[in-house]
Amino acid sequence: MPDALPTPPIVWRVALPVPLPRLFDYRPPVGETAGSDDVGSRVRVPFGSRELVGIVVETGPSDPEAPEARHAFARLDPGPILEGELLDSLHWLARYTHAPLGEVLATALPASLRRGEPLPDTHAWAWRLTEAGQTGRERLRAGRPRRLADLLAPGPVEEDRLDLAFEDWRSAARALAKREFAERLAVPAAAHVVEPRPGPDLHPEQRVAVDAILAARDGFSALLVDGVTGSGKTEVYLHAIADCLARGKQALVLVPEIGLTPQTLARFRARLGVPVHALHSGLGDGERARTWTAFARGEARVVVGTRSAVFLPLPDAGLIVIDEEHDGSFKQLDGIRYHARDFALVRGKALGIPVLLGSATPSLESLRNAQAGRYAHLRLQQRAGAAQPPTVRVCDVRKRPLEAGLSPDMLETIGHALEADGQVLVFKNRRGYAPVLLCHDCGWSAQCQRCDAPMTVHAGGRRLQCHHCGARRPAPDACPDCGGLALQPQGAGTERIEEVLTARFPDVPVLRIDRGTTQRRDALEHALAKFGTQRGILVGTQMLAKGHDLPNLTLVAVVGVDEGLFSADFRAPEKLAQLLIQVAGRAGRAQRKGEVLLQTHHPGHPLLATLLAGGYHAFAEAELEQREMAGFPPFAHMAMFRAEAQQIAACEAFLRMARERLRDVHAPLDLHGPLPAPMPRRAGFQRMQLLLSAADRRSLHAALDAALPAIYASAESRKVRWSLDVDPMDLY
Ligand code: ADP
Ligand code: ZN
Ligand code: ZN
Repeated sequence: MPDALPTPPIVWRVALPVPLPRLFDYRPPVGETAGSDDVGSRVRVPFGSRELVGIVVETGPSDPEAPEARHAFARLDPGPILEGELLDSLHWLARYTHAPLGEVLATALPASLRRGEPLPDTHAWAWRLTEAGQTGRERLRAGRPRRLADLLAPGPVEEDRLDLAFEDWRSAARALAKREFAERLAVPAAAHVVEPRPGPDLHPEQRVAVDAILAARDGFSALLVDGVTGSGKTEVYLHAIADCLARGKQALVLVPEIGLTPQTLARFRARLGVPVHALHSGLGDGERARTWTAFARGEARVVVGTRSAVFLPLPDAGLIVIDEEHDGSFKQLDGIRYHARDFALVRGKALGIPVLLGSATPSLESLRNAQAGRYAHLRLQQRAGAAQPPTVRVCDVRKRPLEAGLSPDMLETIGHALEADGQVLVFKNRRGYAPVLLCHDCGWSAQCQRCDAPMTVHAGGRRLQCHHCGARRPAPDACPDCGGLALQPQGAGTERIEEVLTARFPDVPVLRIDRGTTQRRDALEHALAKFGTQRGILVGTQMLAKGHDLPNLTLVAVVGVDEGLFSADFRAPEKLAQLLIQVAGRAGRAQRKGEVLLQTHHPGHPLLATLLAGGYHAFAEAELEQREMAGFPPFAHMAMFRAEAQQIAACEAFLRMARERLRDVHAPLDLHGPLPAPMPRRAGFQRMQLLLSAADRRSLHAALDAALPAIYASAESRKVRWSLDVDPMDLY
């Protein structure tokens, strides 16, 4: 008998976080064997002279033609950490974004797991008094630490319950810990349950929506909860989540970056009676990994999180909710450019569960899907409780004298609102003192040296800052071109508006909220909590368009409408309409009727006219017609190649090559470019782009699949920083 051929050894095919669209073969560490059970486990491997952590995605015989695979250093997990639906969905995401699977898997894992650290313990935390605390408690003065000490006197209390007991317990706990009166301890993460607090009786529109959701709970469906601000959408979600919990299932709630407030969490906790996990960019790596692991183990039931929470494992999934589904923060703009809403829908389908999309201003994509019957359309048209819709007035400022961009009419209306003890929100989506510093003698203006953009004036005129690359310098005393002293800040940002309003209304507090004043999430909360419900003025950017409830807000004054009316971006009208409706929705959320004032030089602009006469839905219908005629999404599908380099020629060469490779595949595609990016130079880099558009999604993806291997392999691609963005949100 002839000798049997030696069977090739079984190797791991590993997805590594490197920008190459392929897998890498490794033999297991010496003395270990590879098997199909290893799929989904992390391994540590040599890569060139580096060490990387990757995920085994296949096993199989090594390729006899290829040089012998290297040994991995170590297997990091006893079993898979990515498996089942989540692993399948991530494969889908890599195909859809045309990104390397290894980079997609790395994006889906919390940072510490990506680095190869072990899965963390998932116990909960509680606080208890030390012996010193038990005896010393009585001597504490009245105050928060004393209140907490009294609460802990009978025995340890879990942090979740402390969250319910009082808001600022963490600082009290720190104070007690410092005196060694209290300590933190790990306790089993038994889903301890408190009595859920009942909500209000549902009104008829809410009842219809909840019934529709419950009827759909046994399989995949997408339901658009399309309800004006304050119409009780959150109540609808809470009913659906409570039902999901009662069936022993997990619920994932996605909210925009700015929408995740302590108020929201407290409301969810109180109403559901189970621990509600929060997941957002402000958490430490350890906390994120713990929450991820608690979901993977099926211990955690409900999470309210921002974009990346869409990657949580959901072994007992029952429901996904995407609140404010139109919000731009669901799209990641660098790295793996995924859209959390769209990926949530893919997961919902794979999991066979309903997905709720909620908004007062649904995206045109979602409205189109509802019109086409792909989504159930649940409408809530009345405000819940006592709240009434605000009145909206356009304030024509043509030929009117403006002070920091504010018209006399607007200042007067603000004065009236304050006299009536109300709160006023002045909304201007531009931070800083003024957007431009101009020489009145010669026309020079302060430009960023590294970007094609003017520098914003800050600190009352003393400092210049570039909002695109972060460059800063002092404002010059004299014009660098003509030596003249007639340098003038042009236009107004939040800082200048704050200055004018403080001078004009000296006896009320004026609080400015923008990224300059409130870097951190809790700083915003604290500032607003301190502001309270007293009469006064808030001046702010987009940060104030949603989030924290302001029950005493009676007037919303919108100042920068005109800047949004004439943008070249095809999504600009949609974004402006959403912003106006969202800001307006902040007025009169409680008992008092609100007023909204829109200040503009274009009172007759069709966008404003349609929005005012017919509301968001009339606007959306008109805008969808425009998009259809112009061949824009959702009636076409787009992808964008972007390239950056020191030399513009390198960008152009790369994008020309990409265009040729795409032409080679003869797909029904429209190719626009290479063209300079709308901001052709940024942070010292030249930037160009190539836009692809196709009438149907499949042709777009087929063309990319066919052309990308050659594009990746090209010499041109190594001379630029390039990226591919499928379904770009803006064409920048
Ligand atoms: P949305 O999420 O649509 O903005 P919410 O669910 O937050 O609306 O509801 C707005 C306010 O109305 C909240 O204070 C909420 O408690 C209250 N509310 C909601 N539904 C009802 C109802 N059926 N009856 C009375 N009050 C309600
Ligand atoms: Zn000058
Ligand atoms: Zn710059």
